[in-house]
Amino acid sequence: MKYQVAIIGGGPAGYTAAEAAGKAGLSVVLFEKNSLGGVCLNEGCIPTKTLLYSAKVYDYTRHASKYAVSVSDSSYDLGKIISRKSKVIRKLVLGIKAKLTAQQVTIVSGEAYIANQHTVICGDESYECDYMIVCTGSETFIPPIQGVDQINYWTHRDALSNKETPSSLAIVGGGVIGMEFASFFNSLGVKVTVLEMLDEILGGIDCEMAALLRSEYAKRGVTFLLATRVTAFEKGDNGTLIHYENAEGTGKVEAEKLLLSVGRRPVMKGFGLENLNLELTERKSVKIDEHMQTSVKGVYVCGDLNGVSLLAHTAVREAEVAVHHIINESDKMSYQAIPGVVYTNPEIASVGLTEEALKAADRSYKVIKLPMAYSGRFVAENEGVNGLCKVLVDGDDKILGVHILGNPASELIVMAGMMIEDGRKLSDWKRYVFPHPTVGEIFREL
Ligand SMILES: Cc1cc2nc3c(=O)[nH]c(=O)nc-3n(C[C@H](O)[C@H](O)[C@H](O)COP(=O)(O)OP(=O)(O)OC[C@H]3O[C@@H](n4cnc5c(N)ncnc54)[C@H](O)[C@@H]3O)c2cc1C
Repeated sequence: MKYQVAIIGGGPAGYTAAEAAGKAGLSVVLFEKNSLGGVCLNEGCIPTKTLLYSAKVYDYTRHASKYAVSVSDSSYDLGKIISRKSKVIRKLVLGIKAKLTAQQVTIVSGEAYIANQHTVICGDESYECDYMIVCTGSETFIPPIQGVDQINYWTHRDALSNKETPSSLAIVGGGVIGMEFASFFNSLGVKVTVLEMLDEILGGIDCEMAALLRSEYAKRGVTFLLATRVTAFEKGDNGTLIHYENAEGTGKVEAEKLLLSVGRRPVMKGFGLENLNLELTERKSVKIDEHMQTSVKGVYVCGDLNGVSLLAHTAVREAEVAVHHIINESDKMSYQAIPGVVYTNPEIASVGLTEEALKAADRSYKVIKLPMAYSGRFVAENEGVNGLCKVLVDGDDKILGVHILGNPASELIVMAGMMIEDGRKLSDWKRYVFPHPTVGEIFREL
């Protein structure tokens, strides 16, 4: 069987590449060993947000009196929340399948093996291709902490399918995934403890925003142990004992459930990637150019596999860039305005550089900060909730970074990303007419 493009992996990178290549009139085969949609759709972005939305609705009902509405009996059913999540996934997976079918993409269910740059083997069949786009994604990293093999722990997958509310949950790793689960289980009334090795949660996110979010969740009862190294796990009488050490000495926490969320890393073994002899970076990731092409002409690597950003929206854009290169359409990948969102309640969203990154690069910058209460809409819809909008600019007022704490930060950040990508100045916001009242008007106030 011969195709112009073979794509390995049906996550956001793979299915976007397949759809774009199909639309461009190329013959395309896509291999997926589990479920179309990849981690994002089946066990990542979408399921977490589905659960978090249920938690948000529950929170609204519990705090409805803030808006002069009384809800007499508010409760949740975790089993039904999980069923709804599965329904949402099913619907979206079908949607992807329909889009690929519409572009005449051949979908092969099975594990692909790369024999060489023009040959992929799946089952008993061999597939020839002119171009190959490898999008096998990433996997959860389980830290080799003493005792980890002797205890039961959750990864995000277990946390997303668990139907019984635990009394307590310890989360090792206070990054984005850890904090989204902390938020979800805190809303459900679970006693949550977050253990984080760094000095602040949400590494890579603006420290001031992360600290504000942490103090908000601390007020809601989440315990944070920062600058804390987990040293061992042990079975306890009522769950798992997590031993740790920090500046105050050693200690332990016992929790009914334990979630490990210390990070993810690219899946590079087990499917013949080594047969391509691709050049690697110093950090042992696959080296790619601005068109997502590897050191082997005609072979592209997109999404989590290249280890650059590990976000679904980056994967999507990278896939488009790769296909554009194949069809000789002028395009290149830019990483300067990739938004990062933490879907807690309130959300944090960031794009561009942080103060920490600017300091590390010894670059001068100015900070402009405004409480979100400068937006009338924000005040109307966020009773007793504070938020912050922080913009970093250079000496010419060019926008370098935008960081928002407050809903709906995930929606607002798109506008900020466009400004950064286009090299705009702070004063440029004033040239645009914003609908009133909207939370985005905060940008015109800066
Ligand atoms: C809990 C969680 C929450 C997340 N939330 C967000 C979020 O809110 N926003 C965001 O941007 N990102 C989020 N992410 C990250 C996001 O899921 C990934 O960045 C995204 O899925 C990467 O897409 P990808 O196409 O590179 O890889 P994946 O989605 O990992 O897809 C790779 C696919 O390749 C298949 N595959 C692998 N090897 C083979 C083979 N040999 N043959 C055939 N098929 C193969 C796999 O089965 C998989 O389906 C989250 C991740 C997790 C775990």
